[in-house]
Amino acid sequence: METDTAAVALAARNLTKIYRMGAIDVPALQGIDVDLHKGELLVLLGPSGSGKSTLLNILGGLDRPTSGEVRFGNQLLEMDSERALNRYRRNHVGFVFQFYNLIPSLTARENVALVTEIARDPMPPVDALTLVGLRDRLDHFPAQLSGGEQQRVAIARAIAKRPDLLLCDEPTGALDSKTGILVLEAILKINREFQTTTALITHNAVIAEIANRVLYFADGRIVETRCNEVQRAPGELTW
Ligand code: ADP
Repeated sequence: METDTAAVALAARNLTKIYRMGAIDVPALQGIDVDLHKGELLVLLGPSGSGKSTLLNILGGLDRPTSGEVRFGNQLLEMDSERALNRYRRNHVGFVFQFYNLIPSLTARENVALVTEIARDPMPPVDALTLVGLRDRLDHFPAQLSGGEQQRVAIARAIAKRPDLLLCDEPTGALDSKTGILVLEAILKINREFQTTTALITHNAVIAEIANRVLYFADGRIVETRCNEVQRAPGELTW
């Protein structure tokens, strides 16, 4: 994929984030410039504490930068407006986290329906669950599903509203490698079929092989960017 010439889905400029902890300032981001190209799969790699989650949260409108700006297409995100950020998240962003955050008393289908009920142009929950390979688990409760299956329900929930952006923070962090591969395959399938711009955080360097582009983080900065000539399939990876 020619990411250099592809349209920009999201652009961040000179982002900084400082957490104030009593008298101490913790600089989490120290001037980040990054473009996410439409349809690309971006992997964010780097040691714990290097700012990956902080960046992802700001890109997804979950958190605000101390300074700098984010543009979604040609629209500047209004970081001061909780309402504008809510609207942005609701209409454009799907999140997947390390822990699945499913509601235990609802079935897989009902967990996904919670989101589709408030979305503008959702796909039916059954379609979203079918996409992630859970057509035969619709009426299972989270406790009746494996960790990998629960994570795939979380992915179905994230993508059922047809988001422009899919932001994944350590989606395989709690899973064994075999199960993690199934989860990565589901994410890749969405990325390919819907051209969903996808950013995925991991501290597992092997996973970077599935990306179009890899950003390396250290101390709140992007210290290196690499384009993969060839994207490897999750099934080819071992860790
Ligand atoms: P990563 O995702 O790469 O592990 P984070 O973005 O979570 O890194 O954290 C970057 C830095 O910001 C770390 O030093 C972390 O301790 C600090 N940090 C993150 N979130 C908070 C918070 N809510 N309050 C204070 N400090 C935080």
